[in-house]
Amino acid sequence: MKTFIIIITGVVQGVGFRPFIYNLAKELNLSGTISNTTEGVLITANFKSLKSLRNFLKRIKKEKPGPSVIENTGYREIPFKHFNDFMIEPSKETSEKFQLVSPDLATCNLCIKDIFNRQNKRRYHYPFTNCTNCGPRFTIIKALPYDRSNTTMSAFHMCYDCNKEYQNPQNRRFHAQPNACSKCGPKLILVNSMGIKIDENNPVKTASDKLAEGNIVGIKSLGGFQIACDAGNDDIVRLLRKRKGRPSKPFALMFKSIEDIKKYYKVTKLEEKALQSVAAPIVLLKKRKKIKNNLNKIAESISFNNKFEGIMLPYTPLHHILFDYFKNPLVMTSGNLTEEPITSDNEEAVNKLGSVCDYFLLHDRPVYSRYDDSLVKIFNRKIMILRRARGFAPYPVRLKEDAGLKTILSLGAQEKSTFCILKNQYGILSQHLGDMDNLESTGFFKETLKIYRNLFNINKPDIIAIDKHPGYFTSKYGKKISQNEKVLLLPVQHHKAHAASVIAENRLYGKKIAAFSWDGTGYGDDKKIWGSEVFYINENLEFKRVGHLIEKILPGGEASINNPYRMALTYIYYLCKKKEESFIFENYVYENFKHFGFVSKEELKIITFQINKGFNSIYTTSMGRFFDAISSMLNIKHRATYEGEAAISLEMIIKNNSDDSYKINDLFLSGNKNDKYIIDDIALFAIMAEDFFAGTTPELIALKFHNTLANIILEISKRMRYFYGTEIIALSGGVFQNHFLLEKTFKLLKKNDFQVFTNFQVPVNDGGISLGQAVIALKKKI
Ligand code: ZN
Ligand code: ZN
Ligand code: FE
Repeated sequence: MKTFIIIITGVVQGVGFRPFIYNLAKELNLSGTISNTTEGVLITANFKSLKSLRNFLKRIKKEKPGPSVIENTGYREIPFKHFNDFMIEPSKETSEKFQLVSPDLATCNLCIKDIFNRQNKRRYHYPFTNCTNCGPRFTIIKALPYDRSNTTMSAFHMCYDCNKEYQNPQNRRFHAQPNACSKCGPKLILVNSMGIKIDENNPVKTASDKLAEGNIVGIKSLGGFQIACDAGNDDIVRLLRKRKGRPSKPFALMFKSIEDIKKYYKVTKLEEKALQSVAAPIVLLKKRKKIKNNLNKIAESISFNNKFEGIMLPYTPLHHILFDYFKNPLVMTSGNLTEEPITSDNEEAVNKLGSVCDYFLLHDRPVYSRYDDSLVKIFNRKIMILRRARGFAPYPVRLKEDAGLKTILSLGAQEKSTFCILKNQYGILSQHLGDMDNLESTGFFKETLKIYRNLFNINKPDIIAIDKHPGYFTSKYGKKISQNEKVLLLPVQHHKAHAASVIAENRLYGKKIAAFSWDGTGYGDDKKIWGSEVFYINENLEFKRVGHLIEKILPGGEASINNPYRMALTYIYYLCKKKEESFIFENYVYENFKHFGFVSKEELKIITFQINKGFNSIYTTSMGRFFDAISSMLNIKHRATYEGEAAISLEMIIKNNSDDSYKINDLFLSGNKNDKYIIDDIALFAIMAEDFFAGTTPELIALKFHNTLANIILEISKRMRYFYGTEIIALSGGVFQNHFLLEKTFKLLKKNDFQVFTNFQVPVNDGGISLGQAVIALKKKI
């Protein structure tokens, strides 16, 4: 007999790992101990031979519990020790104080059985049922190691029966830290919009009745509040829009079952798998054109003309019980006021959301970390994460590069913020923290950063990376931390960070890459607003900006972003000027584009002035603004009530999928050398305007536009392959949320023997910026 110690790291705590090892050891007749440590789990055990040890490890890897993730396994022999039995020992502190934390996990099937089993007195319809395979994790953890005393469950004392389960290694609830039952655990209560108690005996049933009567109900869920209403009731959905100040951004829906979902949406195998995964995210699904007559319709105002809707399945016992009463799909949107972070506190919810919700389902288990629902879609047969929160964060992105002894903290951008901690080979991204445009959001950002630094034991980072934009909250905050803690500060250009995020998650470091960072806005190295970057990136992650659109004035600066028509008018101004010097701009607009009648002569004058004098304006090469301009020029969308609305509307009117495109030969500025690729978007705009005048439908023009952009990417890629020898193409930035464009571009590039990569594990939008910043900071020779 030989004694070995084995250290396993990864997500191995709070996921049923110790009871699994215990039972496996018993089965194999091993003697020894297992305990949680501050870095993972530690097993000390006796083996007959190295072979039997390897066999043990093989079986661990093969049979480990579903939600666990093994990152590293190490073992070494120590002097022989005698053990009588195999035992689970209390948690130990080890020198390394860094370990991964499990995200929250959707209710498992065994727990669902428990809550619908009338015989089960303690758990029938008990909304906080969980076990080692499911339930809250990250949202309730205050500190590590993951023990009950370090969670928000510490205030609840387990009853005799719960404790018995908790102590029994054979039980599914052995050391399930949030373990609870109706006798001892958190309780639900239904209150009205003033916070006055309505029902505490069967609050879920009453809430369901209220929903059926056409009320809006706030529900305290895992990571904060959700707002629910009947998704089949168009009037009530519109009322919710009005109350929430959210005129048109699509709402997510929750369905009782996968069978129900399939009646309304086309669901592929992979989409089904994503919906039913332990992360249980919102999945973007394509609406069916026709649904069966006997089905209740989904309200038009859920997503208007969008071809996709965001759908999820129940992921807590509370949701499951609610759908036991309420049979129709429910709107399930984040419990916040527009642009503010998700609300998690009972009193705060009633105060803030009392004007939105008629009732609230409250409970007394505090949420320590706030957590929105994650949003994903399936692209190229993989899960593509568009908003990364519940079920994913704080699980890291595994990198090729190792930070060694360094720790890097990067703070992301301004919108769809996340921060990232780079340690060892892990890029630990925070959950989605929202737009940093108000005190609530910035407070949430600071609070979450504190939680992560505490959980992952980050005392002093070696570098803090920020966006180059001097006006971003995250840039200013990073600067402040760097001064207070005397840490090196590194500003990173926005679009370089986008490209680097693709390189990081696809482990492409060390290769020559052509990257397209097409985006809404971002502060350029020349202090202008970029957003159509083409980069050549060498083996050392050094960037050369080799292409972009023509520079134009963004009249009125970034304030124009919500008014796509101002961008359209700018393009029209430039194309007029190109045509004839002596034109009268106002007349040209009103004569040719009748739909701009809503723009006053005065405003046109101001725009002209801004373009001519650059007053209150900045130069831009943004691709997002180009989409805006076309959407408005085609009379599709003139104003945006949420980010990307005009561009999304442009994509959504595309009807058929042919390869019809505009000729691209003349769209590169003459004088372009082999190493420079300036795209003449004003010429392309002019061609589309001509097409519009000629009576071509906006549907067809939109199709041709998207195809033209894909062809432009292909053409530049080919030229770069010839000139720089780049075979790998990286696509990133908010523009590539455009499903049609991304799909077309992938197809074209692959057909031409390029290797194409984009973001899957982190958002392709600004939610992935922090990962790119961190990797650039790591590679900077300082
Ligand atoms: Zn369970
Ligand atoms: Zn109990
Ligand atoms: Fe961006």
